[in-house]
Amino acid sequence: MFDALVVGGGVMGAGTALALARGGMRVMLLDRKGLGTGASGVNAGTLSLQIKRASLVPYALRGRERWADAHRLLGVDVNYHMTGGLTLAFTDAEATILEARMAERKAAGVPLEIIPADRARAMEPAIGPRALLASYCPIDGYADSTATGRAYRAALVAAGVTLLEGDGVAALERTGAGFALRAESGAGFEGRRLVLAAGAWTQRLARMLGVELPIVVRFNMVSVTERIRRLATMTIGHATGLLTLKQSDNGTMLIGGGWQGRGDPERGETAIVPENFLMNLRLAATAVPALRGSRIVRSWIGYEAHVPDFLPLAGAMPGVPDAWLLACVRGGYTIGPCISELLATRILGGEPELPLFDPGRFNSVAAAA
Ligand SMILES: Cc1cc2nc3c(=O)[nH]c(=O)nc-3n(C[C@H](O)[C@H](O)[C@H](O)COP(=O)(O)OP(=O)(O)OC[C@H]3O[C@@H](n4cnc5c(N)ncnc54)[C@H](O)[C@@H]3O)c2cc1C
Repeated sequence: MFDALVVGGGVMGAGTALALARGGMRVMLLDRKGLGTGASGVNAGTLSLQIKRASLVPYALRGRERWADAHRLLGVDVNYHMTGGLTLAFTDAEATILEARMAERKAAGVPLEIIPADRARAMEPAIGPRALLASYCPIDGYADSTATGRAYRAALVAAGVTLLEGDGVAALERTGAGFALRAESGAGFEGRRLVLAAGAWTQRLARMLGVELPIVVRFNMVSVTERIRRLATMTIGHATGLLTLKQSDNGTMLIGGGWQGRGDPERGETAIVPENFLMNLRLAATAVPALRGSRIVRSWIGYEAHVPDFLPLAGAMPGVPDAWLLACVRGGYTIGPCISELLATRILGGEPELPLFDPGRFNSVAAAA
């Protein structure tokens, strides 16, 4: 009997399992495919405070600090870079949006300033002539999200977590002592507590316990260019939030921004939507015109989940004692290392330093378990 069964090996599940084990619990973590194979390992890696909702800024500030300190906290480097970040507006309407959004985020604690476009171009000469106004945050940056699984695996093993990778949850049941879990391989496990942190697949698992959540799945596209000459040293975004751009040490440029593809998380299928892909590239080339001559070598899609108010599900599962949820965190790569620790503090019986986000706020239906 484990003290806690954690389902999902993304940043949310891995971070929670790690903090529970470090807090003294006997923990098992299961992932259907492997640690960091979901959104946490395929995201754009942007650690930008400028694109976080004001209410999530305190969590993002702490999450960024944890990635910066990954070597000490996890024992593995995640190629963290604090580059500084610029967010651009190309029209008067976008400038108005930029000023309003950044005022909220500044009030929430993000160190940033609105700067004229000429100053932005002096900082990052590749920025194109259409930029009218910019905001600048000196602590924005990025890390290598493909290192997520490797980084957490080392720390989880060192903390004594039992890892089961390549085997998913087929069935869940509430028992007198806690939870009985049957894996797809047929193996069975028991735990006093359960944490569901299965990203875009969380709804399916919650339903096994009779809980209905209003989760919507999105299909975010990311593209990477061939290696090109050094064009950008900072992370670059757009006032609408529909662009993230950064150049890696190896010269490739990573282009994201949440443009939508198509997919089916149950079948593991994805498809690029050409019109959206082109819009994403056009926006990137408006920000940095020298990108126009470069080739895209790969585009991919990751599954991201959210609920109607775009705030996290982080707390007790409604109607199911000793079950917890951590999912639907927008900007979750940045925020994950922080919010997973906060949830673990609550599960361990403590009071988290920042509030959680009650999953019961949607009046979710729990059948008698
Ligand atoms: C393309 C893309 C770009 C993004 N860019 C950024 C960014 O630049 N910056 C940022 O801060 N955030 C970004 N995000 C958001 C961020 O990646 C996510 O919020 C975060 O990674 C979610 O973590 P998670 O642990 O909840 O989910 P995931 O990482 O998806 O983990 C869920 C895990 O559950 C497992 N699982 C599913 N079903 C089962 C089952 N039945 N049994 C066992 N295991 C199961 C899956 O295999 C998966 O590994 C992006 C997201 C996407 C998709």
